[in-house]
Amino acid sequence: MTSHGHPNPRILVVDDDPGVRLLMTEALRQQSLWVEAAADGEQALEVIARTPPELILLDVQMPGLSGFEVCRRIRARDAGEPITVVMVTGLDDTASIERAYEEGATDFITKPINWPLLGHRVRYLLRARAAFIQLQRSEARLAEAQRIARLGHWEWDIASGDVEWSTEVYRIFGLDPARFRPSHTRFLGRVHPEDRPRVEAAVEQALQGDDEYSVDHRVETPGGHLRIVHEQGEVVRDSGGRPIRMRGTVQDITERHDTERRIRHLAYYDPLTNLPNRRLFQEQTDLELRHAERTGKVLALLYLDLDRFQQINETLGHELGDEVLKEVAQRLERSLRHSDLVGRGGTLFEVSHLGGDEFTILVSQLTNTQVVAEIAQRLLTDLARVFRIHGQEFYLNASIGAALYPEDGRDRDTLLRSADSALRHAKQREGNQLAFYSADMNARVRQRLTLETRLRRALEEEGLRLHYQPQVTVDGGRIIGVEALLRWNDTELGEVSPAQFIPLAEETGLIIPIGEWVLNTACRQAREWESLGHPLHLGVNLSPLQFRRHDLVACIERALKDSGLTPGLLELELTEGTLMGDLPASMRVLDDLKALGARLSVDDFGTGYSSLTYLQRFPLDSLKIDRSFIRDLTCDDHDAAIIKAVIALGHNLGLTLIAEGVEKPAQRDFLAAEGCDLIQGFLFGRPMPADAFGERLTAQTPPKAVSRA
Ligand code: C2E
Ligand code: MG
Ligand code: MG
Repeated sequence: MTSHGHPNPRILVVDDDPGVRLLMTEALRQQSLWVEAAADGEQALEVIARTPPELILLDVQMPGLSGFEVCRRIRARDAGEPITVVMVTGLDDTASIERAYEEGATDFITKPINWPLLGHRVRYLLRARAAFIQLQRSEARLAEAQRIARLGHWEWDIASGDVEWSTEVYRIFGLDPARFRPSHTRFLGRVHPEDRPRVEAAVEQALQGDDEYSVDHRVETPGGHLRIVHEQGEVVRDSGGRPIRMRGTVQDITERHDTERRIRHLAYYDPLTNLPNRRLFQEQTDLELRHAERTGKVLALLYLDLDRFQQINETLGHELGDEVLKEVAQRLERSLRHSDLVGRGGTLFEVSHLGGDEFTILVSQLTNTQVVAEIAQRLLTDLARVFRIHGQEFYLNASIGAALYPEDGRDRDTLLRSADSALRHAKQREGNQLAFYSADMNARVRQRLTLETRLRRALEEEGLRLHYQPQVTVDGGRIIGVEALLRWNDTELGEVSPAQFIPLAEETGLIIPIGEWVLNTACRQAREWESLGHPLHLGVNLSPLQFRRHDLVACIERALKDSGLTPGLLELELTEGTLMGDLPASMRVLDDLKALGARLSVDDFGTGYSSLTYLQRFPLDSLKIDRSFIRDLTCDDHDAAIIKAVIALGHNLGLTLIAEGVEKPAQRDFLAAEGCDLIQGFLFGRPMPADAFGERLTAQTPPKAVSRA
């Protein structure tokens, strides 16, 4: 069946010669074709306009409209299915044949006509026509399908460098086929610069032998749109295995990608707070647990729940309840983000919203479990601040249960159960809203909390004192220096060692006011001895936190001014760890301190980086060799060798060398032999109260000005 209802294809014969018309018509009817005839061009066009035939046999030479003209007009009409136009020309009229093709003819037949063959010839042409139409249709369908799928295809002739793109490729890349000539390099030029190496590598690998590749990458259109495409390609090789061509497809997956992202977000995030939901929390926890297992690090899971949230929801309404949850989420995130604990030793935090008023905080890569208590305490403090929502003010309390990996659980569920059970304990307890799962950990936290509270009180109520330890010359044993050492005798806890409370003061920030008190007290004391004729070098320890404070220099300047102590007598003791943190910053602070006239000393030398090369860059005055080297001095050749080297190097850098922890005469003798300058240790005096120290000084008469090495 043809498109216009005739069972047989319709043929139009156009010839001014009635004889030819008749013969043609007959010859074709023999082949059971449906034939109509026209005597000239005008008539032919009329027939075509009425019912277009599938094929026309068109005489070139006719009076009136020529065959060429008729052909042109047929081609000019763009409606309907294509008509096969066969021109009928003289045998060797090559000019006409050429012209016929120019006008859009499909084929030609020469006169005289081989009548028995004409029908076959026409049938053949009709078959070709049908195939052509079929092809056109399937191409159109393919193009349509590709447009719908946003799928384009391309071919790259490697030898010639020619690249062909289908319409859709141009469309995806936002390029105009009329203006852009594709090549492999130009294609790469359209790929997002960050993705380019990946795409190049994929193509390269396919050429090297993988034969196929597929890669997702971004494309930036000239209009500035970013599209994501899925690209697939394969290599065509010659018989020798050499790549000759590559072909493939490009699919615009931007929408799918966006949808996937949205779906992922919906699946993994809580829509209200935008925090990871239970599902993401579970996946992340599993991941972190595996990581912790590999690295041997500790992990903490904090389970947080708001107290009385149900009540808020009921009395103030769910809408306000939602706002509260949002605000809580924000506070948790902000508090963690701004915390100086984040990133300390690589520690990471992840807040999730499990639903309702329940949140979790996963703390990973922990080096010190004490951090967990600090962070939990901080979160609770932040949540205790007033909430102002829709013009209403109110307060919330939260409770936190904490569980640690591996002690309290090795897998996610156990850990969560432990944290949950700790949470229930926290809720039962009053005042302290943080509970650990393990009793041991709870005891440690409580102990620490007590220590902190009492230390705070000691500072406020003048429960802190300074002891002074003499530093003497190695040859004559004359006291020419003193180190101020902090002492805390608590009414309940008794004497607490600095090794115990200094780190705590450092972590809680209490070291700042304490350090200031030490500086002022020590400077006033040293000034008193100075005015009595004992100008001693006063060693004062500076903690890392103090050193990093921007107001350190001002604080020291004030202590010097208020006390009246000669600045050159103050010797600030810093450990290597303190100095090495941020070298340029350290350098600036040290320069400022030197500008005040103070001396600088490296404390506990040998326990840290022990890098004399670094120390060389700092404006230092003295080096205190750590006690641990002195302790084994007489029985350990290795330590002896180290001390020898340190003394030699230190002197080379023009530094005064002080040995700490000298307890035995043999140690003193060794140090004296090696030329160490000063000695500090129980052998010459333990740290003692100021008046006892004063007595030692008066015994050492007559006082005279001594200068250091
Ligand atoms: P440090 O600065 O290295 O102080 C020397 C420590 O060695 C003192 O311990 C001192 O009592 C002890 N020592 C001195 N001679 C001997 C000896 O012959 N044998 C033995 N076994 N020990 C000796 P202390 O007073 O317990 O202080 C410990 C650390 O606490 C100090 O080490 C210092 O780092 C810190 N510290 C003390 N007071 C302050 C202070 O006011 N501020 C700061 N930031 N830290 C302080
Ligand atoms: Mg010291
Ligand atoms: Mg020391």
